[in-house]
Amino acid sequence: MHYFTPKRCETTTKIMYHDRQTAWQAAEQSRIERGVELWVYQCQYCGQWHLTHRDPALAQAVGHFKRSQKPYSRKKGFKPRRR
Ligand SMILES: [Zn+2]
Repeated sequence: MHYFTPKRCETTTKIMYHDRQTAWQAAEQSRIERGVELWVYQCQYCGQWHLTHRDPALAQAVGHFKRSQKPYSRKKGFKPRRR
């Protein structure tokens, strides 16, 4: 049995993932197993990938796609009057 011993980032003490794919899998797993939603971001200190509970959009260190929120564009409705 081979045990995966995660390395930890010296700066953030978070577990390091060397690629985004692996980090995403871990995030996905925690969501399934624990119901914890995690985000993946690339660390500016170690250059590896970490998981975070916070929405990285706040931290702006992100490879996570933003949920595109288009402002609900309302064209000024021009209703042809019916008679
Ligand atoms: Zn790091």
